[in-house]
Amino acid sequence: MSERENPTPDARYDPQRIEEKWSARWQQQPELFRAEPFDSPRPKYYVLEMLPYPSGALHMGHVRNYSIGDALARYMWMKGYNVLHPMGWDAFGLPAENAAIKNNTPPREWTLSNIAHMKAQMTRLGFAYDWSKEVTTCLPDYYRWNQWFFLKMYERGLAYRKKSRVNWCPECATVLANEQVVNGCCWRHTETPVQQRELEQWFLRITDYAQELLDDLDRLPGWPEKVRTMQRNWIGRSEGALVDFKLDGSAGPAGDKIPVFTTRVDTIFGATSVQLAPEHPMVADLVGNDSGLRAKVDELMAEQRRAKEAGDVGEIEKHGVFTDRYAINPYNSEKVPIWVANYVLMDYGTGAIMSVPAHDERDYEFAKKYGLEIRVVILPRRQGEPPEDGEEETPLLPFTAVDSMLINSGPYNELSCEEALQRMAQDAERGGFGKAAVTYRLKDWGISRQRYWGTPIPMLYCERCGIVPVPEKDLPVVLPENVDITLTGGSPLGKVEEWVNVRCPACGGAARRETDTMDTFVDSSWYFYRYTDPTVTTAPLDSKTIAYWFEIDQYIGGVEHAILHLIYSRFWTKMMRDLGLVANSEPVARLFTQGMIIKDGAKMSKSLGNLVIPDEMIERYGADATRMYTLFATSPDRELDWQDAGLVGISGFLSRVYRFFATKHECANGTQPADRRILRKLHQTIRRISEDFNGRWHFNTSISALMELLNFVLEEHGGEMEEQAVSAKVQDAFRRNFVLMLHPFAPYLAHELWEMLGERSNLLREPWPKYDPALAKEEEVEIVVQINGKIRDRLFVPADSSEEELRRLALAAPKVQATLDGKKVVKAVVVPGKLVNIVVR
Ligand SMILES: [Zn+2]
Ligand SMILES: [Zn+2]
Repeated sequence: MSERENPTPDARYDPQRIEEKWSARWQQQPELFRAEPFDSPRPKYYVLEMLPYPSGALHMGHVRNYSIGDALARYMWMKGYNVLHPMGWDAFGLPAENAAIKNNTPPREWTLSNIAHMKAQMTRLGFAYDWSKEVTTCLPDYYRWNQWFFLKMYERGLAYRKKSRVNWCPECATVLANEQVVNGCCWRHTETPVQQRELEQWFLRITDYAQELLDDLDRLPGWPEKVRTMQRNWIGRSEGALVDFKLDGSAGPAGDKIPVFTTRVDTIFGATSVQLAPEHPMVADLVGNDSGLRAKVDELMAEQRRAKEAGDVGEIEKHGVFTDRYAINPYNSEKVPIWVANYVLMDYGTGAIMSVPAHDERDYEFAKKYGLEIRVVILPRRQGEPPEDGEEETPLLPFTAVDSMLINSGPYNELSCEEALQRMAQDAERGGFGKAAVTYRLKDWGISRQRYWGTPIPMLYCERCGIVPVPEKDLPVVLPENVDITLTGGSPLGKVEEWVNVRCPACGGAARRETDTMDTFVDSSWYFYRYTDPTVTTAPLDSKTIAYWFEIDQYIGGVEHAILHLIYSRFWTKMMRDLGLVANSEPVARLFTQGMIIKDGAKMSKSLGNLVIPDEMIERYGADATRMYTLFATSPDRELDWQDAGLVGISGFLSRVYRFFATKHECANGTQPADRRILRKLHQTIRRISEDFNGRWHFNTSISALMELLNFVLEEHGGEMEEQAVSAKVQDAFRRNFVLMLHPFAPYLAHELWEMLGERSNLLREPWPKYDPALAKEEEVEIVVQINGKIRDRLFVPADSSEEELRRLALAAPKVQATLDGKKVVKAVVVPGKLVNIVVR
């Protein structure tokens, strides 16, 4: 009976037994996973996975993300690096408040118990985290530094307060995020239309860094191009000119000037209207008491909001209304009508545009619809020659080429567009009605949230002094406990009178605390700095420690964070640099975005019923197999289509590995031919897997290489592993190196096998196998090349060359080529390992 069908009890792979044994040992030796201090003689390597929100349980996407990071961390330890591999919790956020209402559990309690559970899951999965560096953002020892940073930014004018428009649900009496507005109504009150309100909000001046954030993208070659492009578009820089159109007639509170941003000031003589965003402050003045006009503007505003929510504001069906008022073009003193239009956005440029229908797609469409004048002011340039009178042809409209020449433009006629762009901007500045300008799509970061479960903004409002910052010595402003959270009636903190009412630190009079809390993206903007030393109490971080660990060598997470989180954290780094806290200008040298996991053709979700629960897979197949499958199914950057059969396959492979190690194999004496073949295959495998780690992380091919290697050795052993074919020395080399290479992918089984080999050390401290090119080299044999039966050449080729390969090599040999000399090759007969006979005519 074969060994395969009847394993001895000892040879049965029992992942639960193995994994629980090693998990318990590792928990008793947390120092194994700790990074060494910054005076370590080893080179440093900081590998980081994005920290999770503690929702209660890990999902498969987490397992994939962390398995990639853990494989890399273990590999880098083995390569001799001092590895920092920390984990923490992005622990503030609305779900805790919703859970508090639903289960009547305080957010803090709910969050901390979720963290405990998820940490236990991570431990069960065997991730090599340095838990001495754990950061939990909802605890005061962390969020006090959010407050500290806020005060520093306030001192420098980087934090400021201004009125801004927000989505407001009158039922909830609170601000809604854009994603909480569903079909124009509140997500919780589906019959209640959301209103727009003007509220005082706190902003961080990220726009001060817009240009640097853009420029430095060119210095991040280790980031995916896709992410850099998304950031460039998000920052959205455009060069142009600001031009003031003066309001004709009486002015209201919004003033008498309409600043317009345009990238094509060269076409301004073709401007036949000025168009305002529905939210433009001057609109209220222009509308006045005209209720009909008011209703139309409200409708335009609603259309724009709906399009924004649907995410297709660029595709909006254009509507507008004439205000019955005019503005004056400062270049030619011409009066142009002022319209309000639904496609003009308040958050781009100045919220007002000049409309040049002849030379802009959108303006053309709008002018055609409403019968506005279309005036041509640029023409294609003809070899630099100005056109003669009467010779001008109207180009196909709208005509937008910059490689053109001005007409109908007063003193600027016959200038090229490039020249006109410069000169007209200069003239605007000279004339005091405008200037050259750059604008960004990126807006300042509004961080106020009318919620409980976040960092309290450390500001006070004094009846006498106005806005007063909380003195640094009074930090942290701690979130009060036992707060009644209802999600109605505004910020829950506003109702905690004993917390809200304080003495003003400046005058001693009555003051109230700010009741808004910070956007949770603040927490994640700098958490990875805190990891390097979360015990420091006198500052958010220790600059010396940061200088050693930063930049992060490898950051791994989902591409859905390509903008917000990854722009905010770049901004935060630059701000910290300007405070003198850190020397680096960027936080992350290399970024990797892993693919999503899908099942049955869709993203895994509870509602679709296609969730795969990590705990269930671990219980059935073990953590090693579960982790390894997420790495094996496809390369880490691609979408992973979950197949249960694939996990079964990996589990079967780990079983075969275990059985091989648990079975005693007879050894041969001296050097056998099989020894050379096994060493060759072994070193080829070392090369392949090392290259995968250093290159594109195709761990799926690394794992296939391990499978091939095992199969190869099993075949050498005649399948039954009984033949005395392989020497003890080579058997040992194979086993040790196989375990070392298995370790980053299946750490539990690797340690069990290592112990079976009589070793006691932790594999994190064992060096990664060295590849020996001489051993990996294919054996060569001499083959004879004949033409029509006559020997023409002799070639040395790899011993295992295929027939196809031999045919190709023979035909390509120079002597053969010379003899062929244009003759027709009828066929080439191959005798593998011996000869190739080419038949010609
Ligand atoms: Zn509501
Ligand atoms: Zn005061």
